[in-house]
Amino acid sequence: MRDCFELRAFDAGGRIGDLRVPRAGVTVETPALLPVINPHIRTIAPAALEAEFGAEILITNGYILQKSEDLRESALSRGLHDLYDFSGAIMTDSGSFQLAEYGDIDTTTEEILRFQYDVGSDIGTPVDIPTPPDVSRERAAAELATTRERLEVAEGVDVGEMLVNAPVQGSTYTDLREDAARHAYGTSLDVFPVGAVVPLLNSYRYDDMVEVVAAAKRGLGQDAPVHLFGAGHPMMFALAVAMGCDLFDSAAYALYARDDRYLTVRGTEHLDDLAYFPCSCPVCTDHAPEEVARCDADTRERLLARHNLHVTFEELRRVKQAVRRGNLLELVDARARGHPAMLDGYRALLDHSAELERTDPATKDSFFHVSAESARRPEVLRHHDRLSRLAVEGSVLLTEGNDSDRYDATWRLVPPFGPFPRHLSDSYPFTAETPEHPGRAAYERAAEGVRALAAANPEASFTVAHWEWPESALARLPEDVRVESLADRES
Ligand SMILES: [Zn+2]
Repeated sequence: MRDCFELRAFDAGGRIGDLRVPRAGVTVETPALLPVINPHIRTIAPAALEAEFGAEILITNGYILQKSEDLRESALSRGLHDLYDFSGAIMTDSGSFQLAEYGDIDTTTEEILRFQYDVGSDIGTPVDIPTPPDVSRERAAAELATTRERLEVAEGVDVGEMLVNAPVQGSTYTDLREDAARHAYGTSLDVFPVGAVVPLLNSYRYDDMVEVVAAAKRGLGQDAPVHLFGAGHPMMFALAVAMGCDLFDSAAYALYARDDRYLTVRGTEHLDDLAYFPCSCPVCTDHAPEEVARCDADTRERLLARHNLHVTFEELRRVKQAVRRGNLLELVDARARGHPAMLDGYRALLDHSAELERTDPATKDSFFHVSAESARRPEVLRHHDRLSRLAVEGSVLLTEGNDSDRYDATWRLVPPFGPFPRHLSDSYPFTAETPEHPGRAAYERAAEGVRALAAANPEASFTVAHWEWPESALARLPEDVRVESLADRES
């Protein structure tokens, strides 16, 4: 167990955890958002982030501080907590972003880690190489080798109680990401940012983001705190948390505000397109869009930044509540309806149901079947695994209708799960709320459940009694299963 991180609750791959930050003397509850503080531009003062928004942790750029004539000395003499008037935890970045943007920076891992330590950072970062998506494999592998060396250098730098990030790179090559994560996890470093995903997020490639994170998660232990580096749009928090991301940082709240962009959980709006504010934060209750539009640029930026932060923290609280309540995947499903690319992301997430299933609680609040995607949730997969191990004998009726004493046993048959013994009717997930017509995907999954049970019990004979299942579902039943239509029997 990594002693800085303790997990307390799970839902799908998502978790509520405690990140202990010894140098700051604080424990940060995760998932957590780190607002990005630009050392030169304070759109919202760090003290206000703490008091007004409840920020427990923030991130600022150690490299900019180191290279800044006017800030370096005061950062060194006063320390970041005093300079920023912030009592929570402070993470610092190393200049890797500048390296990616400008191709060159003037520092080393050893030097920048020492500087971060000297200014009182609580979580420091070595100079990794953020390899963008879609580069050649040779480049991704070569840059990854450099990042590995830097992590090994970082292990040797004496930084006292400061935690140190071990970034996971590898571009869009999932095997490289997995190897990178395994290597990073094997070091003595503490927190694991999945790097260089911003280009994927900016181009709405949420499915590729899911693949990259899933690969990193395969290489990391369950007890590794994972930071989705550069991800700060509230629309994707539910999805990213469901994959097992614990930390997010937002420069978006300020950058978007500067361009008159207004964040919502369904996407981004431009101030000019808003006749109403669909939000109840203090900014949106006190102002109409046209009033904000008439303000001078600085005021407008500050107002929009405050709204953007309110909606961002609100969504994070909603996501955490969903983890506690056990309905995170219903929230991901709802968010997936906000944008087609989010739906692609959700579908990619469900491709990893077997991985999500490992931490998904065995029992929780009611399973809501709300979409075709619900049929692919980890609970259904887990039940099908169990069906392939359950033993039954003789003649077995699997029915959506009533029991019959013409059979040795009668099991219930419920889409999307398939068959289960009647005594489990009151257990999760069979207490599911399903619509009257759950849709073709749910029937097809139920038929696959029948297949799993029949394959495990070749000696038994099965009869399926169904209410008007579609042909595509009936076609998935094994050939030797008898099929009866309850609708025919009634007419
Ligand atoms: Zn608002």
